[in-house]
Amino acid sequence: MKEDRQAGKENLEMKADMEKDRKTDEWLGDEKEVDSTKVGQLILQLRNEKGMTQQQLADRLHISNKAVSKWECGMGCPDTSLWPGLASVLGVDIQKMLQGGLDPNGPDIGKIQNIRFYVCSSCGNILVSTGQASVSCCGRKLQPLVCSSEKSAHEITVKETDGEYYIAIQHEMRKDHYISFVAYVKNDRILLVRLYPEQDAAVRVPVMGKGGDLYVYCTKHGLQKAAFSCYKPA
Ligand SMILES: [Zn+2]
Ligand SMILES: [Zn+2]
Repeated sequence: MKEDRQAGKENLEMKADMEKDRKTDEWLGDEKEVDSTKVGQLILQLRNEKGMTQQQLADRLHISNKAVSKWECGMGCPDTSLWPGLASVLGVDIQKMLQGGLDPNGPDIGKIQNIRFYVCSSCGNILVSTGQASVSCCGRKLQPLVCSSEKSAHEITVKETDGEYYIAIQHEMRKDHYISFVAYVKNDRILLVRLYPEQDAAVRVPVMGKGGDLYVYCTKHGLQKAAFSCYKPA
């Protein structure tokens, strides 16, 4: 009878653990499935780098050292609620931790053609990256903008005068629908100009040589990319 109860209790504990794992998976959403072995190895490695014992790490997180030992053996992943604390104690990017590794990006070899723009839907922040990155703002991971189809393209005219390009976009500039930035990308340079409602949908940029790419971002229609060579200066 007593043994049964004991077994029942263990079952419950197992259920609770499974529940935790399920929650972790849900929280990760579109992230790759967590490899608990990798995560465990990473925690072990980082803990050693910090010169901490399992007990010390556990104390900082207000959990038992058994839990830490369990993770490090790849027997399960930390509960979602522990990730922020774990990241701050171990001093690493939580996203990278979730991917189970801290491999640095390959060197950025200046392929500015791979430029990525990110816009935070919450605060409107504009971020630019010349390589792969995990970018977040307002607590959310941002996906790079994808250039929209030509159908939704806005008409752009470019005039060259006195060493400047005058770039005008046929577009309204209302609060709910406007061009929020124009970026001129040429060789190793990015010139980003931010625009606001009620302004003209036009910018002046210095000529940085022949050609280059032009990116225009509309709050409704998204990112549009065009080559300067497409436009015949009037
Ligand atoms: Zn934001
Ligand atoms: Zn638009």
